[in-house]
Amino acid sequence: MPLELPPGTASYSDRSPPPKNRQLLQMLGFFVGFAIALFASVQGLADVLSGLVPYGVEQQLGALIIPVYEQQAKASSEEQGQSSLIQDKLNQLVDRLETHLPDEPHHRDYRVIYIPTAEAQPVVNAMAIPGDRIIIYEGLLAQMESENELMMVLGHELGHFAHRDHLRRLGRGLLLQLVLAGVLGDVGSLQSIALSSATTLDNSRFSQDQEYQADRFGLDLLQQTYGQVAGATDFFARMSQELGSNIDFLTTHPGADKRVRRIETEIQDKGYQVGERSPLLLPLSKP
Ligand SMILES: [Zn+2]
Repeated sequence: MPLELPPGTASYSDRSPPPKNRQLLQMLGFFVGFAIALFASVQGLADVLSGLVPYGVEQQLGALIIPVYEQQAKASSEEQGQSSLIQDKLNQLVDRLETHLPDEPHHRDYRVIYIPTAEAQPVVNAMAIPGDRIIIYEGLLAQMESENELMMVLGHELGHFAHRDHLRRLGRGLLLQLVLAGVLGDVGSLQSIALSSATTLDNSRFSQDQEYQADRFGLDLLQQTYGQVAGATDFFARMSQELGSNIDFLTTHPGADKRVRRIETEIQDKGYQVGERSPLLLPLSKP
């Protein structure tokens, strides 16, 4: 049975081709459109990939990365006893925040790795790493003047986990390798991925939007934990006033004064109350 072409199809090839310029323009338009679409999809690729990393692979990666930081904690502390007491206290605080976290398909138990650093070169930073660990450096803890202020920082880091920023910051290349390792069950390649990941984690920074989202998450946790949000802006306000911008937390985080304004607006919009601060009871000797 002969194939019947729809009406008009046969005459298509009879049409005279459009002038060369028009063809060129059409091609150019197609190419530009294609490039924009490709760029947009690559921009969102890290977001998509971070959602595809299987829970088990993330935990296996964490198991390889965590010892790197635990080693730092050991190497830089002469007083192991005191720093493990501090770490215990930090974990108790995280546990309190955790009771207010939204449910996740996998049970996560967030823990802190406290890293004491030399007083001469304090590292004022905190970060979320795969394996459900929050890294807190001594230099950051030394800045904390109330429990509420510290809880805001811890809540902020929990926000990065909730938004999967701790995976997104690994970048598209590593994420793709992770997803493939999960799909292919190739656990061997995780060793080399972990090695690159540790370097990437130390050097990468989040986008401003990721930071604001994490602040918002921390603020809500603060409200749920205390019924008010005292201390939410303290750390960032002190950063911008006293310390200037030449500290680690700000090289991996956006401008402190902008964040203070954003958080204050958020507090007003949500009608959160600002009450009393609770003292921070840590076995910590401040300079
Ligand atoms: Zn952050």
